[in-house]
Amino acid sequence: MRTLLFALAAWLLAAQSAAAQVDTSGVDQFWRTADRIAAGETLTGSDWDVFFTHPGYRFTQEAAQRRPVIEFCMRAVFTPGVDVAAALQNRSNRERRAELYADTCAHMSAAREQRAEIAVFLNSGAIEAASAAGLEEAARWLPADAMQRGAPPRIYVLLFEPQGFGRPGELVVDALYAMQKPAGQNAQFIGHEFHHAYRETYQRLAWADGAQSLIEQLDRFVHEGSASMVDKAAYYRSGTIPFGESETFLDDIRGTPQRLAQIDAVLAALSPTSESYSAAADTVDELSPGGGHLNGVFMAMTIEEGLGRETLIRSLSGPVAFFDAYQRAAQARRQFVFSDAAMANLRRAAGVQLR
Ligand SMILES: [Zn+2]
Repeated sequence: MRTLLFALAAWLLAAQSAAAQVDTSGVDQFWRTADRIAAGETLTGSDWDVFFTHPGYRFTQEAAQRRPVIEFCMRAVFTPGVDVAAALQNRSNRERRAELYADTCAHMSAAREQRAEIAVFLNSGAIEAASAAGLEEAARWLPADAMQRGAPPRIYVLLFEPQGFGRPGELVVDALYAMQKPAGQNAQFIGHEFHHAYRETYQRLAWADGAQSLIEQLDRFVHEGSASMVDKAAYYRSGTIPFGESETFLDDIRGTPQRLAQIDAVLAALSPTSESYSAAADTVDELSPGGGHLNGVFMAMTIEEGLGRETLIRSLSGPVAFFDAYQRAAQARRQFVFSDAAMANLRRAAGVQLR
């Protein structure tokens, strides 16, 4: 019996580690670097090059060009005697990504104050538990074979900003942000990033000449909307706001049909030129609060409620499949549908041969 229990415990441990590898070396590296800056050392370009060879930090740069803001805020927050607000004011071309810089510096200042608590949190096993649960959450909105597609993504826990990112094979998760979230919401937060990591392997995008930016912009509805089924849909349906979302979360989702109608007008008026496609991409971007999450989750909820979760899961390849499924679901539910002209132009932009 004893050996059996022992074997069972070993199997459970192995099963858990197969669920997701959590790597916190990025947090250690963050503090080592912060301590050097706090000790008065001026880091060179090659010091920062080495910092960004860490796979988690490299991911933040490759996926979202975060190296400049991470370097800036680490210097501003940890160099002795620097006034962070003044440093933000004096930053060269400070209009660019101003909110991101301010938020990141505030987040790193908060991390400095809570260094001991972050260490305790990382030792508590909370991220490992949330990862295992998050993987199951993500699987509910993915094709059945998704989890057989190789080992689960590795999770790099970092300190950078209140965020996470996911791509095939890897996720990054901010330690302080995870610590601040109510425990039950970390599985959903990490599950959303897991969804991204797997969904990308099903993504099939194509575009006509000049239409890449428009197709990618519309694909954010698919990518963020389907992942947001994991961490936003249940809150919207129950009329509550998840941790970290803005006060306007519910109204922003509710306002989606009005924005889709504006997007419809833009798509219906497209001409097959680079200028027309890129102007449309910019307008779609402006009409996408939360970068595609909110329009996308509204459309994904419509598909799930109208045609079932399996149909939603089968529509993850890109905007044509996703908008088609939305059309059918929205017709059944008598809510906003795109015009025939808009749908024909979407197909043409996506390089679908018109008959
Ligand atoms: Zn996302």
